[in-house]
Amino acid sequence: MGESRRRAHAKVPDLVSAAFGHRFMNPVVDIAPLLDRVAKPAQYTGGELNARRKPWDEAATRFALCFPDAYEIGMSNLAMGVLYEQVNDRTPHLCDRAFTPFPDMADLMREAGLPLFGWETRRPLADFDMLGFSLSYESGNTNVLEMLDLADIPLESRERGPGDPLILGGGSALMNPEPMADFFDLIAIGEGEELLPRLLDALADVDRERPEWRAAFLMHCATEIPGIYVPSLYRPRFDGQRFVENERLHADAPAQIERQFVDLDAVPAPSRPVVPLTEVVHDRVAVELDRGCARACRFCQAGYIYRPVRRRSAEGVATAIDQCLAATGQSDVSLLSLNAVDYDGLDDLIGDVQDSTPDYLQVSIPSTRVESFNVDIAQALQRGGKRGGSLTFAPEAATPRMRQVINKEISDEDLLDTCDMAFAQGFRTIKLYFMIGQPTETLDDARAIAHLANRVMAVGRRHHGAKAKVNVTVSTFIPKPFTPFQWHPQDRPEAIRAKQQACFEIVRDRNVHLMWHDTEESQVEALLALGDRRVGRVIRRAWDRGCRFDGWMEHFKPEAWFAAVSDAGVDLDELIYRHRDPDEALPWDHIGIHVSKRLLQREYARALAAAEPAEASLAGASA
Ligand code: SF4
Repeated sequence: MGESRRRAHAKVPDLVSAAFGHRFMNPVVDIAPLLDRVAKPAQYTGGELNARRKPWDEAATRFALCFPDAYEIGMSNLAMGVLYEQVNDRTPHLCDRAFTPFPDMADLMREAGLPLFGWETRRPLADFDMLGFSLSYESGNTNVLEMLDLADIPLESRERGPGDPLILGGGSALMNPEPMADFFDLIAIGEGEELLPRLLDALADVDRERPEWRAAFLMHCATEIPGIYVPSLYRPRFDGQRFVENERLHADAPAQIERQFVDLDAVPAPSRPVVPLTEVVHDRVAVELDRGCARACRFCQAGYIYRPVRRRSAEGVATAIDQCLAATGQSDVSLLSLNAVDYDGLDDLIGDVQDSTPDYLQVSIPSTRVESFNVDIAQALQRGGKRGGSLTFAPEAATPRMRQVINKEISDEDLLDTCDMAFAQGFRTIKLYFMIGQPTETLDDARAIAHLANRVMAVGRRHHGAKAKVNVTVSTFIPKPFTPFQWHPQDRPEAIRAKQQACFEIVRDRNVHLMWHDTEESQVEALLALGDRRVGRVIRRAWDRGCRFDGWMEHFKPEAWFAAVSDAGVDLDELIYRHRDPDEALPWDHIGIHVSKRLLQREYARALAAAEPAEASLAGASA
């Protein structure tokens, strides 16, 4: 598809230049004639409050942050906002934004021969020096290919030449970089605030008249900038289907790429976020309380890859909130954290924010652990804004045995008491997150989720009668790299479906809403999380077969994905349904996260040792 579209471009310069301005005559891509033919046109227009417009000709380098999902998702992404403000306001470089056009707009752009562009400059993305894709979930992978193709940029790094922009990837979904390794020239392992300015400074110094500048620059980054991985300097080696090692193709390429991280308080928080023009998933001011989590739940990749825990001071958080509210006029504030209730003085901080802001201001925190939540935090959250809102807890498992296995040891009583207190404080909806398919889990462990949801509902009804609600999201466990469960196979779809059904049969109350993830989606996610470089062929074939927006139910095409798996000759049994030997080589072994493999192995052994007969634990959970 990529080749045919590039040829189509070559044939339609008259149409483009006459109707919309050809890039060589007029560098601005004008999509105005398409806007009345697409859904949500305002997402493509740019021009939002607080958007930065740096002069193109004066910038040291021109960089575009690319979000491989829709505008409404990307504009809610914290990393996008942080890096956009950092590069534009504190470096000599220009930072633009781009998002994935929905299929209606993508089709019209292809038809008109219009390339994908930066939202501020309206320049074709192919004119930038570097594009940086932020990938926080694997379902964005095919959208990276879609954006490159729409931008008329070759999809794979080996196909690009000196005139193409460098393609950088970063984000937690690339901590195992191998499945997407063919598509990126560089991958940032770690936090962008540390790595991106260094990369852009280095690029500004490059003499691009030199014919070999690209290879020389990549080698410079790999050897001189810690945390930068250049996939083309490595080649995976296999023994049959089994991965053996990532072989270095150049003696200077580092054997291990170490994750980089920042001191959160030393990096300014965003102060003037861009205000979206359309409704977005999180339409509010978002300020990070801290980064990292010390709880070490064994399934949780974030708990391992963001270590050590770094906290932003209460003064820093309060200042950022004041600045953002003044610059945006927003009425909601979200305090972001992996585990907000572990932030010392959270209740005082929320109280101070509400004392110094208008009454209508609503402060919220993300899902949280149960055991540290207390009445002071509940009261502080209820002081401002509208009453009767919701709180989210993430017990993840519903039996004592499973909670020991995953290392999230709360008791049913803790959960019920906390919900009781939250309902008593005026919250009417409790959202609960659980996960099925974790190591050693049985059908009875899954049933216990529904029993527990029923018990929380009974508590809610005592306080609010028919107005109480319990929303239960049951996701499917995906073994993730860099966790103690990285060696464990994923449950097969039939086992997951049986567990979902077992839960469903037990929930009787119409105010308990049970939601779960599609099993096919979880299979694809596991493949993209655990895969080696061969999975890149699957991703390319899936995109060829029309896969885009894989995180959207209405766009996800499981049959195209499984056909792509078969096209690429990849064996799912080998990659996701196999118990890996804790001593075997893993495709992500060349990435260092500052947590040793030995520690993960010990934690895995402890998890398996914690498993005991399920019958006894179910009795304890659902009595
Ligand atoms: S699941 Fe939550 S509490 Fe556990 S390690 Fe992850 S972020 Fe921390």
